[in-house]
Amino acid sequence: MVTASVPEQKAKVGPTQLLINNEWVNSVSGKRFETINPSTGEVICDIAEADAADVDLAVAAARKAFNSGDWRQMSATKRGDLLYKLADLIEQNIEELARLETLDNGKPLNDSLNADLPLVIACYRYYAGWADKIQGKTIPINGPYFCYTRHEPVGVVGQIIPWNFPLLMQAWKLGPALAAGNTVVLKTAEQTPLSALRVGELILEAGFPPGVVNILSGYGPTAGAAISHHMGIDKVAFTGSTEVGHLIMEAAAKSNLKRVTLELGGKSPNIVFADADMDQALDGSHDALFFNQGQCCCAGSRLFVEEKCYDEFVAKSIERAQNRIVGDPFNEQTQQGPQVDQEQFNRVMGYIESGVREGAQMLCGGSQVGDRGYFIKPTVFVDVKDEMKIAQEEIFGPVMSIIKFKDIDEVIERANATMYGLAAAVWTKDIGKAHAIANSVRAGTVWVNCFDVFDAAAPFGGFKQSGIGRELGEYGLQQYTEVKTVTVKL
Ligand code: ADP
Repeated sequence: MVTASVPEQKAKVGPTQLLINNEWVNSVSGKRFETINPSTGEVICDIAEADAADVDLAVAAARKAFNSGDWRQMSATKRGDLLYKLADLIEQNIEELARLETLDNGKPLNDSLNADLPLVIACYRYYAGWADKIQGKTIPINGPYFCYTRHEPVGVVGQIIPWNFPLLMQAWKLGPALAAGNTVVLKTAEQTPLSALRVGELILEAGFPPGVVNILSGYGPTAGAAISHHMGIDKVAFTGSTEVGHLIMEAAAKSNLKRVTLELGGKSPNIVFADADMDQALDGSHDALFFNQGQCCCAGSRLFVEEKCYDEFVAKSIERAQNRIVGDPFNEQTQQGPQVDQEQFNRVMGYIESGVREGAQMLCGGSQVGDRGYFIKPTVFVDVKDEMKIAQEEIFGPVMSIIKFKDIDEVIERANATMYGLAAAVWTKDIGKAHAIANSVRAGTVWVNCFDVFDAAAPFGGFKQSGIGRELGEYGLQQYTEVKTVTVKL
């Protein structure tokens, strides 16, 4: 591991109030909370803190905008044009948004600028294109009838997003919801409220009608729970931990049976066969785990390596981890910034301790970098056994667990022995093995000889307790429409 220094590096901070009905307002309670710079542990600024009363106001605005028809009955092409305009405005402000994301989240500016923001822009453009292509079917039913379906918006949608990709998660949520004609109350994660509010400003500049997009900053058990329990919300879309996913479903069941889509945790198997292109598999597996400080729900966090190449793979993985440049996320060379906050830092350090305690061998890393901010050395464990905590639970940090396997049947069984099913990957030159893994591993995405390949058109989501429903692509769009059957006597 190489360190880069952490100079005081700032980005321009935008709005810090709540966006309700196209107006910037303080919270009803007047409360504010602090958002922290994870590189230093210092306060960036304080932000209006939404609670149930603010959720009520935002839902009322969204309901009014939905019922008025200004949005859902607007020409679909015009709705698409507004989304294109938003994408253009984000592109025009790409550097500013990327810096703000890096300041609040800690991810390297290189990643914000060259990975997150291009995907954000592409996502809005992709769904802008869908706006006037959402169509039903005509159905040949028996009798003298004309039967057809309409794909209508679900209504007022509550969206709760996490802190690991703040702008991208906002785009994955707003893009399909707005293209389909829904109105939205979106709550950001308490760790990273800033960039979404700046996008709120661009939403106003683009000219979206009042109440169509409302953006609230605030905490999960207060503002988040108010959304999931709200009787005036027709659907809730959530990305975050499996634990909170259970709470969201429970709240939906106990309130108005609002539609629920969930994108939750993962413990994705990343399987390397000895016949793989070794350098490609090594680089790919390194990125699969360490990208975004290890804070990815689909991180390749169970790295299964075939016995025949295990020793070589371990040695080279350690070399890569030790060479990873950790430090100031605004430095161009930096590959790894801080974890998002003290709580996540503590959680990850706790997992590292448990790995050592349970007898896995830690061959590098394991400690903090520097004495301020939440930086953790890239850490690699070997001799990891399936039953260890570090092989079972989502760590969400820069901690690689390498696990040995002998043959394909065994690795498929072990890969599936988890409550999660978000993603998986396989590295091999044997097309037969690649397809055997792709067909047998129970996960929403399988990457073959690649990892973390995302595209707005390709659906993403989980099997098992990794979630319900899909985001992105046409499948993601379907989650934001209700199908209405119309039957006309001829
Ligand atoms: P993490 O543990 O990674 O922070 P969470 O699942 O706790 O992930 O958080 C993801 C999002 O869910 C955040 O916006 C958070 O505020 C929100 N959240 C947390 N708890 C609740 C809850 N009880 N109800 C609704 N939303 C919640």
